[in-house]
Amino acid sequence: MKGFTYRGGRLHADAVELDVLAETYGTPLYVYSATALEAAYDRFQAAFRSQGLLPLICYAMKANSNQAVVTTFAQRGAGADIVSEGELHRALAAGVAADKIVFAGVGKTAGEIRAALKAGIYRFNAESLPELETLAAVADEAGCSLPVALRINPDVDAKTHEKIATGKAENKFGVDLKILPEVLELIRQRPGLRLCGLAVHIGSQLVEIAPYRAAFACLAALYRDLKAEGWPLESLDLGGGLGISYRDETPPTPEAYAEAAAAAVAGLECDLICEPGRHLVGAAGILLAKILYVKQGSARRFLILDAAMNDLIRPTLYEAWHELLPVRQPAAGAPLEPADVVGPICESGDYFARARPLPPLAAGEAIALSHAGAYGAVMASTYNSRPPAAEVMVRGGDFSPVRPRLDYATLIARDCLPEWLRR
Ligand SMILES: *Cc1c(COP(=O)(O)O)cnc(C)c1O
Repeated sequence: MKGFTYRGGRLHADAVELDVLAETYGTPLYVYSATALEAAYDRFQAAFRSQGLLPLICYAMKANSNQAVVTTFAQRGAGADIVSEGELHRALAAGVAADKIVFAGVGKTAGEIRAALKAGIYRFNAESLPELETLAAVADEAGCSLPVALRINPDVDAKTHEKIATGKAENKFGVDLKILPEVLELIRQRPGLRLCGLAVHIGSQLVEIAPYRAAFACLAALYRDLKAEGWPLESLDLGGGLGISYRDETPPTPEAYAEAAAAAVAGLECDLICEPGRHLVGAAGILLAKILYVKQGSARRFLILDAAMNDLIRPTLYEAWHELLPVRQPAAGAPLEPADVVGPICESGDYFARARPLPPLAAGEAIALSHAGAYGAVMASTYNSRPPAAEVMVRGGDFSPVRPRLDYATLIARDCLPEWLRR
């Protein structure tokens, strides 16, 4: 009853047939399984509990910030890892307690910092000297001090796609250890900055444990050193990045990940923060689409879907691989022929899969792009004036829309005309 499985020859989300959802809401449609979200969160938390750790789990909202998804985690006690003021407002609206929110990102504006300070968030994870200057200035202006954690760049290779690696010295993220003395000097001079912790986040879709061990060890060693120097540190933020199995990857289990964390922080006596994103939501969502046309080219077969890169850009952006699951279960032993699975957008980059072995499929059939719950809907655009895929959540046999499809009038009404064109 959990997640996406074939039953009686049809693909289901929990206990709901995907055909029913396609018929009710139309396609393209993101479908999230609440039971899969809950199970992923509970397992992650239990993995740490079994190590005797009770981290604050700050769900990394940028993976999927639908209010229904964030509320699902908030009701289980989760905090939030935000990277913008928009995510701050979403987190608060979803019922995340302000004192469970950490604010990450290399480009926080003074306005965003003011908003987060006013809300009373837990930590600002700072990434550079000039950002610390801005944080200090906002604190001075408000006549208070800000709880800051330094995001360290441990110069560790996360062994992931270059566009989602963040922990090497050449990435824009985190404070380079070489300039740490300067950074600490600045914090010493600015009463508005209260250094409370250290943070790290070395990348996304990590499928090996070794980079984690290296990054956590670096962070823990620095924590010890700074404590010994008298810095009043209280917390360690281990970031996110735990991968999922899109194809045949074998990422660390949450249990192995928690064990690596426990080994690194043993004896530190600090509050622990985790920022999982993809791991909690990736497998809990699919993108449901309909085959519009089957086009037989001279070189290959094309399946043209009603979903496009404006709905799910991961294949285009990261060469990502999403499994394709026909809603009508293919017969055992059905012949597999390669097909390019593409969208209708006027870009050659608008594809979901290339030369993918697929069973015979006909126009009008529905097909699901698997593992689309993370970095899917949140990256949607209205390119080609296409309303992005609608979103629905299923829980057991229940289902409910969680983001209705944008209608054309609303889409157009977001623009307005300058005076000289209003004649
Ligand atoms: C993106 C991000 C995360 C979450 O990454 P996942 O790979 O989705 O787990 C956590 N922390 C920070 C600072 C991030 O930027």
